[in-house]
Amino acid sequence: MQDRTSGIEAPATIVFSVFYALFCTGFVYQSKEFIGAGITPENLLSTRDWVGSEEMRFIIYHLRRTAGTIIIHSFLPFWYLYGYSYFTSVIDGNHGSMSEFWDHWPIFWYSLMLSILLPLTTASMVWFWSLDGWRRHPFIRQLEIYANNNTWAEVAKDIEIEFRRIDKITVRTTPIEKVVVTDNWIILISSSPWRMRLSHQSDISLQLASCDHHQLSTEGEIGGSQYLKIEVKNRNPDIPSYFFRIISTEFQNLQDKVRVSINNFQNISIFKNVSERFVDVFKEQISENARAVFTDELEPCIGCMAVTANVTILRNCDSSIGDQREDNACVSCYCRPMWCVDCMGKWFASRQDQSNPETWLGSKCPCPTCRSRFCVLDVCLIDNIEP
Ligand SMILES: [Zn+2]
Ligand SMILES: [Zn+2]
Ligand SMILES: [Zn+2]
Repeated sequence: MQDRTSGIEAPATIVFSVFYALFCTGFVYQSKEFIGAGITPENLLSTRDWVGSEEMRFIIYHLRRTAGTIIIHSFLPFWYLYGYSYFTSVIDGNHGSMSEFWDHWPIFWYSLMLSILLPLTTASMVWFWSLDGWRRHPFIRQLEIYANNNTWAEVAKDIEIEFRRIDKITVRTTPIEKVVVTDNWIILISSSPWRMRLSHQSDISLQLASCDHHQLSTEGEIGGSQYLKIEVKNRNPDIPSYFFRIISTEFQNLQDKVRVSINNFQNISIFKNVSERFVDVFKEQISENARAVFTDELEPCIGCMAVTANVTILRNCDSSIGDQREDNACVSCYCRPMWCVDCMGKWFASRQDQSNPETWLGSKCPCPTCRSRFCVLDVCLIDNIEP
């Protein structure tokens, strides 16, 4: 039995405090484990369909979701103080009962009362926002900037229509934030109602502000990962600039969807993924191989349709001579040239052992069309000569 005079520091109470701190950090910042276990504000709020569907009513969904999230978060201090009182008096037995503990530590009692006021205040504020169809929600002010002679609801409707289209993109920037790009809009969605931003694509310029590298990648990317900080500057003086951060492998995806080009005034070199880096080395190697001469007209590459086919597979290596294991020797391919060097490199990379990139250049790969085995030495650039 614990000594009752030892004060409020007792083992179970400390264990509870540590676990509660971990829980709050994981819950508020939505760590992978919490998302995986479904402990998210979204899940709690979708009980009885309160938030509705993001796909159908994008704006309404996020107005409700952010409002509900701050109410849920506002309960966290209360549960801590209440839990602490329970653990110290009932589990650790430092006090006869919880009310005895509160009598002994009046400051705790006042803090507990204050912590009840917090959710009450938050709930009243959210209730006030929700009057007149959420007209007072902080995010609505940003929709109103674009409303001109219409109401914000018209703007919301236009955004929701675009969000339902299949070609919108969503880039997760942090576990609690994402950027949605539709045909005309860029929307920064956050768990905080005050952090959300809206811009029309015709108003903005995008700029790469900075980058940072992480040697250990949470995405399991070999060689670490790079994050790019992007600044959204708005020509409309009512809308201040804002930033978001994306992983470099999402950069091209984002650039393809936004109408303006993302300026890179600081010449930040954008980190490539393993496959892209392999294609660079692959092309370097191919340029040293023997070339093939081709007199017929060449067709566009069937991989990208963007450039003319410019490589062919001709067995140049001596793999079958010294190689006793016949089944691993290169085989002649008689296919017409159908691929460009970039697509061939990507195909080659995609057929390799993804966990061992250092072995790729010395490995073999089947021809994309006839499945004949070839190696990097057998890929030839084409000199196309008019007959
Ligand atoms: Zn191609
Ligand atoms: Zn072939
Ligand atoms: Zn070969």
